[in-house]
Amino acid sequence: MKWAIADVVGVREETPTARTIMLRIPGWTGALAGQHIDIRLTSPDGYQAARSYSLSSAAGAEFASVSIELMPDGEVSPYLVRGVSVGDQLEVIGPLGGWFVWKPTQPEPLRLIGGGSGIAPLVSMLRTHAEAKSTAPAHLLYSVRSPDYVYFRDELDALAAAADAEVTIQYTRHAPQGWTGTVGRLDGARVTSWAASTAPADGGTVSTYICGPTRFVELAADTLVATGADPLTVRTERFGGA
Ligand SMILES: Cc1cc2nc3c(=O)[nH]c(=O)nc-3n(C[C@H](O)[C@H](O)[C@H](O)COP(=O)(O)OP(=O)(O)OC[C@H]3O[C@@H](n4cnc5c(N)ncnc54)[C@H](O)[C@@H]3O)c2cc1C
Repeated sequence: MKWAIADVVGVREETPTARTIMLRIPGWTGALAGQHIDIRLTSPDGYQAARSYSLSSAAGAEFASVSIELMPDGEVSPYLVRGVSVGDQLEVIGPLGGWFVWKPTQPEPLRLIGGGSGIAPLVSMLRTHAEAKSTAPAHLLYSVRSPDYVYFRDELDALAAAADAEVTIQYTRHAPQGWTGTVGRLDGARVTSWAASTAPADGGTVSTYICGPTRFVELAADTLVATGADPLTVRTERFGGA
């Protein structure tokens, strides 16, 4: 696999601090839901920095899309979120990764847990699920600070309906007016009660995918394993940070 020059064919602001970039990558034949690409920036003096970004597009999408959160003191994300425009070119390699992937041939129920930008590969899974008309029951638990920071806000409900998925949002700081659910950080008790409420009646196997900041992922994964999930059924993707 080689680095390729991709054309930026679309950008969409997701939240005040995040955007989706759509890329036309030469020779792109799709990916597995959950895979990522690496994007490499080169400065005029030759200094290079590469970072990984999960694909948020469906497995078979013609254009690859990535959805990126701005890290204010970061080397790469500020340029991608604030600096890139349609018509620009980016150096990319991928698709990469073979463990944190979901395939429509998987019949077992699907549990998705995402924090912040960690929703990106989970939306790829939901899109792929909907396009493949999978009948695997799907549940998404999405932790996000407030309504303005919900990625894919305009399409999440439609996507959930298309994938016949149940979406639970956990607002960590502010909820919309009239919200009757809890507000606060996702903790072990909330993960446990959500997992219990989404458990199949026959007690069968569930595949779980957890993605987001490192500490968030570890809390959710450790909680599920401590409460009985087989570690081999809990796949994680850590985006870094605390
Ligand atoms: C497999 C994989 C897939 C990823 N997919 C995505 C994605 O879909 N969307 C996305 O926005 N990011 C994703 N990331 C994270 C991404 O690769 C970068 O780490 C992130 O964009 C920060 O890069 P930066 O150069 O701007 O910051 P850096 O210069 O690397 O770091 C700047 C500061 O931000 C902190 N930091 C870095 N990452 C995080 C984080 N996730 N949370 C909190 N603090 C952080 C660092 O510790 C440092 O203090 C993914 C990471 C991996 C490993």
